[in-house]
Amino acid sequence: MLLCLQFNGWNIFATSNEEGNDWVSLSGWAKANDFKLGWVREDEPFTLTNQSSTLLFKTDSQWAEINGVKIWLRKPVSIEGRHVCVSSLDLNTSIEPILFPQTNQVTIQTICLDPGHGRQDTGGVSGGYEEKRYTLPLAEELAGQLEAAGFKVILTRTNDTFVELEDRPALANRQKANLFISLHFNIGPPGEARGVEVYCLTPPKASSTNVGRWGHIGEISEWGVNTGFLPGNRFDNRNVLLAYDLQKTLVKNLTTEDRGVRRARFAVLRTAEMPAVLIEGGFLSDSVEQKEIADPKYRAHLAAAIVQGVLAYQRAVKS
Ligand SMILES: [Zn+2]
Repeated sequence: MLLCLQFNGWNIFATSNEEGNDWVSLSGWAKANDFKLGWVREDEPFTLTNQSSTLLFKTDSQWAEINGVKIWLRKPVSIEGRHVCVSSLDLNTSIEPILFPQTNQVTIQTICLDPGHGRQDTGGVSGGYEEKRYTLPLAEELAGQLEAAGFKVILTRTNDTFVELEDRPALANRQKANLFISLHFNIGPPGEARGVEVYCLTPPKASSTNVGRWGHIGEISEWGVNTGFLPGNRFDNRNVLLAYDLQKTLVKNLTTEDRGVRRARFAVLRTAEMPAVLIEGGFLSDSVEQKEIADPKYRAHLAAAIVQGVLAYQRAVKS
């Protein structure tokens, strides 16, 4: 069936009593923001385009794409009458901060890198591959590349030591770092999961991507929804932009799956007083990716993609 998405201005559908859960007509939003939207088939993805960006949505799906990069939405896109609708919270906290970045932000001078896990905390383990053994050399490689690009870099650990989760952003705060990047590798059912994903802090009142999902011990220490304002939420707009820019350059440079920009209230993201993200740079449980992650050349390639993402973010908030 062909569905005509008519431009009816800015329509808001208050279909839920839950706070912050207004539904916004995408056609109205497209018109207000100079995006083109045409005839689409109801059962296929539909697109909104302007000169610089393409958005893709699917009905009943929590995945959207911005310029080919997957973004996790809080609520599935739905059809109300003749309107394709998206949650206002998704527009305000995911889509608009990426499309319309806040500029004139603080110049990035110092970046805090956080190699995940350490000592007795091995992180994920698969086939003898321990996560903590690869996060540190990735951080060291990345530190060298970021320094070569002109940034000052600090690390939350420089050897196989145990650092409490809350001490990691605390160090970044004390050192007045301008960005915080936590580095991890993933574990999932062997043969079923591969690819990269970047997490940023869940906005207040929203649910995290990883609710009900298996996760590393310690990284996930809060499973609730509708949590109040956390210190890291001050940076929500820049958190999601940084996550998007990193996910984009990772997917562009690595031949692996795009697992999207995701949301979590990880302990290392909650109290960071600067834009902060957590990168899952591949799956140790995947027979191909575990060998790549263990290869210094591949890690250098991964680090180069992260540097590109940081530079893209820097350009976006400066201009
Ligand atoms: Zn981890």
